[in-house]
Amino acid sequence: MSFQLTEEQEMVRLMARDFAAKELEPVAAERDRLEIFPLDVVKQMGELGLLGMMVPAEYGGADAGAVSYCLALQEIAYSCASTALTMSVANLSTEPLLHFGDEAQKSEYLVKLAEGELLGCFALTEPEAGSDPGSMSMTADDRGDHYLVNGTKVFITHGEYADVVNLIARTGPEKGSRGLSAFIVEKGTPGFSVGAREDKLGLRSSNTVELHFNDCRVPKENLVGRPGAGFKVAMIALDSGRIGIASQALGIARACLDESIRYARKRRQFGKTISSFEAIQWMIADMATGIEASNWLILSAAWKKDKGLPFTREASMAKLFTSELANKSAYLALQIHGGYGYLKDFKVERLYRDARVTTLYEGTSEVQRLVIAKNLLKEHD
Ligand SMILES: Cc1cc2nc3c(=O)[nH]c(=O)nc-3n(C[C@H](O)[C@H](O)[C@H](O)COP(=O)(O)OP(=O)(O)OC[C@H]3O[C@@H](n4cnc5c(N)ncnc54)[C@H](O)[C@@H]3O)c2cc1C
Repeated sequence: MSFQLTEEQEMVRLMARDFAAKELEPVAAERDRLEIFPLDVVKQMGELGLLGMMVPAEYGGADAGAVSYCLALQEIAYSCASTALTMSVANLSTEPLLHFGDEAQKSEYLVKLAEGELLGCFALTEPEAGSDPGSMSMTADDRGDHYLVNGTKVFITHGEYADVVNLIARTGPEKGSRGLSAFIVEKGTPGFSVGAREDKLGLRSSNTVELHFNDCRVPKENLVGRPGAGFKVAMIALDSGRIGIASQALGIARACLDESIRYARKRRQFGKTISSFEAIQWMIADMATGIEASNWLILSAAWKKDKGLPFTREASMAKLFTSELANKSAYLALQIHGGYGYLKDFKVERLYRDARVTTLYEGTSEVQRLVIAKNLLKEHD
């Protein structure tokens, strides 16, 4: 077993680190304050291959693999967690077409998504269907040459700016997660409109909106996978999504640690730097230990994905552990900064707000525990 990254993986990490330091770090706080969704940055990331990292080169992707994807995403999140979410959702949006799309769909959409020419979003959540997508009410009725889609999706990341939507809707009368199907829907399709923009605690330069479908005619050829396979399509996309969110959380936790060390070495109380106090050292040690553990959980899940092995349980473990760690680290980092951490002048204030959502989206911590336990119990059947 090797603990060594390949030369290519190291290069991807350094490229993303360099990009984040130059293009994100200096402006992230202001974008957060003004709630600016940085379309120019999305374009740049597309050109660097950061939006289709797990897509093979024949479909326009960087073909870098999941390990490189996680390393790069971490670096982006270290400087700007909002941009990391954009990157994560853009990459997740390639998964349904990559695994279930036909060749026509791949050449029409996947190549453009992977090259960054199109931005994709992923629409699963509804007002009454969050942790339980099987209870969704959006319908897509088979009308011969098209499906007629009606309903509302909520919390859709960069839905206002996306060119195409990966949409999950109910096509069959079956209850629960059966009877759902996946579609790719283009912006501008009559009957499809973008609704209210959410005003969020954190990730304020990521865009979050409602999407409305009102007698929206989606051509039959835009069905992704077979009718009824929608839940499976969504879950496979979310497996990859979860290693992405775990990486975002790890980037946030690492930033918390670095900010804490920097501050603790400078700030003096009782005639000494606060870094000389054991209480502060323990907080730093706890953050660093969690970061190390998270790193290996993420790499192990990503490595399994790259090897074509099952990684659902590992992805959930990585997401659960690292998102909880990011929250703990943000709490400790703010504690180390004292009252100053509560001010917008310090990066930890933004990290604290940005960390919060990582235990919520793409499956709450409670849902991750359900997934992990279900997988373990199944193994012992
Ligand atoms: C910033 C942001 C961006 C998002 N982006 C997207 C996106 O791009 N696309 C998309 O489709 N969705 C997106 N979401 C939605 C997100 O995935 C959901 O919010 C999440 O899945 C939780 O659903 P919910 O909010 O309805 O909470 P609920 O499902 O109502 O959960 C409420 C509470 O009950 C708990 N709970 C629920 N069921 C169980 C159970 N069986 N056992 C134990 N506890 C349970 C939950 O863990 C939680 O604590 C986003 C959300 C946010 C905040």
